[in-house]
Amino acid sequence: MIEDNSTINIQAEVLGANGIFTRYKTSNDFVQHNDYFEHSTFFQCPRCRSLDVERETAYGSDKPVVIVRQCQDCGYSKTTDFSKEDNQ
Ligand SMILES: [Zn+2]
Repeated sequence: MIEDNSTINIQAEVLGANGIFTRYKTSNDFVQHNDYFEHSTFFQCPRCRSLDVERETAYGSDKPVVIVRQCQDCGYSKTTDFSKEDNQ
């Protein structure tokens, strides 16, 4: 798994010069990458730079109310609670 993760990080660096737009929000938030070639969005751990980030979404009546992202490598997690509307 360690070798796989290092490979993923290297690929991310390469892709960064080939169409991936990176949005830096805050230093302790997960880094959002938008891959316009793959039309996908993925996240990177702000602490260890791992791309092995798992997302769990809790839904309310018809929309997500809580999104928890957790790094599978270092265990860092960040909870986004939409019900509190505290996004900045
Ligand atoms: Zn991490």
